Amino acid sequence: MALKQVSFAKEKVVREFLVPDYYKNFQCKGGKCRDSCCVEWKVTIPMEQYFLLHGLKCKTSVKEKIDRAFRPLLNPTKERYAEIVHNYDGDCPLHKKDGYCLLHETCGEEVLPWVCRYYPRGPRIDLANEASCANSCERTLELLFENVNKLSFERKNLTFLMSKPKEDIPEDRKFLYIKIRDNMFSLLTNRDNPLHLRIIHLGKYLLTMRENSQINLDEIDFSFDLPECDINENHQILWSLLDLFNSKYRRLDEQLAQARSNYLVHDVVEIYNQNKKHLDETIKDNEIFFEKMLINDLFFKQFPFQNNFSVYDQYLALCGTYILLRYLTLNLMVDKNSIDYYIDILAKSFTVISHSEFDKLISSFMKRLEITDLANLSKILQM
Ligand code: SF4
Repeated sequence: MALKQVSFAKEKVVREFLVPDYYKNFQCKGGKCRDSCCVEWKVTIPMEQYFLLHGLKCKTSVKEKIDRAFRPLLNPTKERYAEIVHNYDGDCPLHKKDGYCLLHETCGEEVLPWVCRYYPRGPRIDLANEASCANSCERTLELLFENVNKLSFERKNLTFLMSKPKEDIPEDRKFLYIKIRDNMFSLLTNRDNPLHLRIIHLGKYLLTMRENSQINLDEIDFSFDLPECDINENHQILWSLLDLFNSKYRRLDEQLAQARSNYLVHDVVEIYNQNKKHLDETIKDNEIFFEKMLINDLFFKQFPFQNNFSVYDQYLALCGTYILLRYLTLNLMVDKNSIDYYIDILAKSFTVISHSEFDKLISSFMKRLEITDLANLSKILQM
């Protein structure tokens, strides 16, 4: 998958950022990571950086490796000029056996490609000064799942080398962003309701906001009659969603085939209930973990202010992502008991969700299935 790369020159930015509570404790696991981000990720670097790396002065044996680790793309642009050439096993050739980076160790942090230097951190300085860590890193999820407290945020002085926004964003838009985000998080963390209902409440809020962007939560009628949930019907829909996901991300082939075979020989409702019971017994706080993980993801991508993507389409992507991950974990945890395995499924899934155009793909898929209004969404969200 191609990671989002910034398209203009970077500057040193020193300022106070709003960060989630786990941020200060984040430290890469290095060689202890079960599924390192150095493996298989298609990291691209700008032209300027490619020539900087080629001009580095260091030991010949290291230099030879660095020169062979990056190659120009077939259709290079200034911003996406070269890519990492992975080893036969999919690993970055500069990724050492002890988990550390040869480039970093030999030439220092300053020469690392931007994505290698900061991943999984995602700093933003446009709508607000914010930074968080992507759910695609297993350490982020471990920190999020360390406790059941609601995710909180704090201010921290941080320094990043990053691109300044091309245009200034008007103050009223920044203000609206903060207001909407606070309201969204307050709805999503209202543990008096099950998470699927909180997601419906969020949909109501976003729909109401289309008419009046300044509306307050206490002015909205959140009453909602949950329709019956047809497990057989939902199962068909959700399995087509899992197939779509797997077509983008092939590493779950085997596990999904195994899970599917259970449904072929047994009653769908019986297997679903059995898997659900197993998940609830094994990962008993799974709903709280999902709440924290979703909030972290929404914060990371500045939902619902993603570029070139309507607010409601972003909401459809959120619903699709929630139910996809819910159904994936419910079915793949079937004979597993470890939190590590649960985290691995989620982190691997987020390598596609957070670092590709997956949101757009999944929202158009929901539209194709005509699951767009709150009544229809609420049927599958209940799974
Ligand atoms: S996935 Fe996270 S913990 Fe693992 S190597 Fe990458 S940054 Fe470190």
